[in-house]
Amino acid sequence: MAKTKEIYPRKICIQGTWYTIEERSATKDPELQQGCGGYFDPYNRRCVVKDFSKDKDWDPDEARLMQSRIIRHEIIHAFLYESGLDECSWAQNEEIVDFFALNLPKLFVCCYVAEVLEWHRPGKPDEQTVGTGV
Ligand SMILES: [Zn+2]
Repeated sequence: MAKTKEIYPRKICIQGTWYTIEERSATKDPELQQGCGGYFDPYNRRCVVKDFSKDKDWDPDEARLMQSRIIRHEIIHAFLYESGLDECSWAQNEEIVDFFALNLPKLFVCCYVAEVLEWHRPGKPDEQTVGTGV
């Protein structure tokens, strides 16, 4: 599995707004020193994940998997924010955000197999809809 240093920082487009995914050391980021693995920062338009590779208790592949789950969680917060739904009580429920973060790959596969994703239509995929912006 690829090292996280080769992956981050990365730019992603969320609902037409560019965000950065950043991997940071808990020793250098006070937000990460409070026991969280990541956070969504709407003011600086970034999703931050703790660099678990610095933690000797984590196997490198497990650390990468955990970081991926945390980033999906923060991306969902960003989508809710950019959609104007972040103030809704259900959108602030961490269990709901986690449900989508954990099940997003399964949802994607189901939609892909069912051929109901936006890029299944003729022509080029909509950059904003796909979310990569690349
Ligand atoms: Zn959260």
